[in-house]
Amino acid sequence: MNLINKLIFSTFTAGFLCVNVAQAADVVNVYSARKEALIKPLLDEFSASTGIEVNLVTGNADALLKRLQVEGSATEADIFITSDVGRLHRAKEAGVLKAVALPVLEASIPQALRDSEHYWYGLTLRARPIIYAKDRVDVGQLTTYEALAQAQWQGRICLRSSQNVYNQSLVAAAIHALGDETTQSWIEGMVNNLAKSPSGGDTDQLKAVAAGVCDVTIANTYYLARLINSSKPEDQAVANKLAVFWPNQKGEGAANRGAHVNVSGAAFTKYGKHYNEAQALLEYLASAPAQAWYAKINNEYPVVDGVEVSQALKGFGDYKMDPIDLEILGLNNRQAIKLMDRAGWK
Ligand code: FE
Repeated sequence: MNLINKLIFSTFTAGFLCVNVAQAADVVNVYSARKEALIKPLLDEFSASTGIEVNLVTGNADALLKRLQVEGSATEADIFITSDVGRLHRAKEAGVLKAVALPVLEASIPQALRDSEHYWYGLTLRARPIIYAKDRVDVGQLTTYEALAQAQWQGRICLRSSQNVYNQSLVAAAIHALGDETTQSWIEGMVNNLAKSPSGGDTDQLKAVAAGVCDVTIANTYYLARLINSSKPEDQAVANKLAVFWPNQKGEGAANRGAHVNVSGAAFTKYGKHYNEAQALLEYLASAPAQAWYAKINNEYPVVDGVEVSQALKGFGDYKMDPIDLEILGLNNRQAIKLMDRAGWK
């Protein structure tokens, strides 16, 4: 071997060893669109019990997806965590996820709450019922999401913007249950009943209902649970004025489909380099102790059987959920946005 070859060989070997060392280190890198407080304690627990170090990058959901796209094969991320199937599906379509069949997760998480092609797994479940002002709404007047298009709700509804994925997914589920035409007339009627132009997040809608700006809204239950559990008297005052109504629980056909639900979930990134560690992390997040923690801290419903829900969620009562395969929310997302635009839902 001449000197040049020797140099090339040793550089190659060193590089090779280097890569091996990096891969052998027990590390998993997570991009998470969930707030740090909602995930970090779980990741710490995972590290303590497995010795696998977790590097967490948190950020805005759309920004993290963009980052995965820009970084491409150079990404450090092994796992992508985000809320809403609409977003998980967008990541799948963007080509930044890897399909991985995980038998442990497939045995414990119902099929409807994970991607049939193994690109993502729901890890926490949230419901999006109607929430109303107890002093101004006769609960007997409430029935279905579709009935919010009726004239009796003129000027009495607050809704979050159509830019937000939560309402896009609500409409995507309706498209599946009702078809385009009926969905279009429902959202047109509901938008015509708005008390004000859509603005703010789910909590802002709850505050607007409590303040008398409107009488009903549609929001995820954990936002109300958060106000109930808040140490601030002003939050508790808001919560005390509100109650949950589970829509679409009775009647015939689609009126009987159940309340809209969605998940936050996790996926392997296409170019992740720590496969075993990523698998161990997802299996941990779907385990009963992790599910119980999530259910308690963020007031979400577990996706596996046998895990208790939080006190606040128990207070909202049992309900029937729409049994739709949640991946349909992603498949119908574009159509949902189109119908919302057409209805003038800002
Ligand atoms: Fe949320």
